Amino acid sequence: MNQPHPRLPEFKYYQPKSSKEAVDFLDKHADQSRPYAGGTDCFNQVRDRRILPQYLVDLKSIGGFRDIKFDPKKGLTVGAAVPLNEIIFHPKVKQHYPVLIDAAREVGGYQLRNRATLVGNLCNASPCGDTIGPCLVYLSKVHIVGPGGKRKVDLKDFFEGPGKTSLKPGEIVESISFPIPPAGAKGAYQSIGRNKFGDLAIAAVTVLGYEKKDNPSGYEFLLTLTAVAPTVIFANLAQDILRMQPITHSILEQAAAACSEACKPIDDIRSSARYRRDMIRMLALRGLEETCKLLNLPL
Ligand SMILES: Cc1cc2nc3c(=O)[nH]c(=O)nc-3n(C[C@H](O)[C@H](O)[C@H](O)COP(=O)(O)OP(=O)(O)OC[C@H]3O[C@@H](n4cnc5c(N)ncnc54)[C@H](O)[C@@H]3O)c2cc1C
Repeated sequence: MNQPHPRLPEFKYYQPKSSKEAVDFLDKHADQSRPYAGGTDCFNQVRDRRILPQYLVDLKSIGGFRDIKFDPKKGLTVGAAVPLNEIIFHPKVKQHYPVLIDAAREVGGYQLRNRATLVGNLCNASPCGDTIGPCLVYLSKVHIVGPGGKRKVDLKDFFEGPGKTSLKPGEIVESISFPIPPAGAKGAYQSIGRNKFGDLAIAAVTVLGYEKKDNPSGYEFLLTLTAVAPTVIFANLAQDILRMQPITHSILEQAAAACSEACKPIDDIRSSARYRRDMIRMLALRGLEETCKLLNLPL
């Protein structure tokens, strides 16, 4: 009988205790090593022979990588090895970044989220990564360390294509940071999959809205679209529509249509491109309606 899941191939395990140890090792074994945190993407890729590293570098024991820190002025910092469930149940995340929690809850099942990390979801760079949209609308930054030292990148500049990031050989992400969101910001994460539990998103929309007196509409809305382009994208035209005109239900419909226009979806095993485009319009409208309700904005 064919084995649907072949066994893991042989590899060597390395467990650094500091970022420097990790970076030195990854730099020395550049083409033969791979870092991982939860391993929920990485081990599947190794099992399926999509990657065949000689060394797997476990980042979970690095000092500070399991920390979540919150500062009322600077915002939130999440270490690279913090599992999603710790983020979901953190009171400060709940208070200040609720849309991130809504999206993190969509990742797999409860057991998976005890293992899978936020930074792993970003570094995997799947166009359907559930947490990417919220991290984008909350204007997060990725903190990177590598052979050339430390650097900080806006998350919007981190993704280069499906499975591709701007990380250079030997570099790892140490943490992700989020500024304090604008006062009164509210938002929503709307996604659809083939089933209700644990499937990757066919399409998803993240919305974050807040009052901005300088804008002709009096509001600013940030919108991202997931699983409908090579990377998660901002819906720029929809954002402009919501910035320039008084917010009415008809304007929300126009913005939702602009989201659908902004998609570059593909046909694949989980959905047709056309269905994805239609779902984006529906999810964007739902997300905007929900956000306006939370903002007490009459339509
Ligand atoms: C059954 C199942 C269901 C799933 N459902 C969903 C879902 O609904 N939604 C969703 O978005 N995802 C889903 N996933 C994918 C996966 O669980 C998530 O992407 C998860 O957040 C990855 O985190 P991790 O810590 O396990 O990543 P890992 O597997 O440890 O790493 C993922 C990738 O990032 C790299 N990496 C990890 N950490 C670092 C770092 N600090 N610096 C540099 N590179 C790094 C690794 O080399 C690897 O390429 C599912 C996976 C499984 C197995």
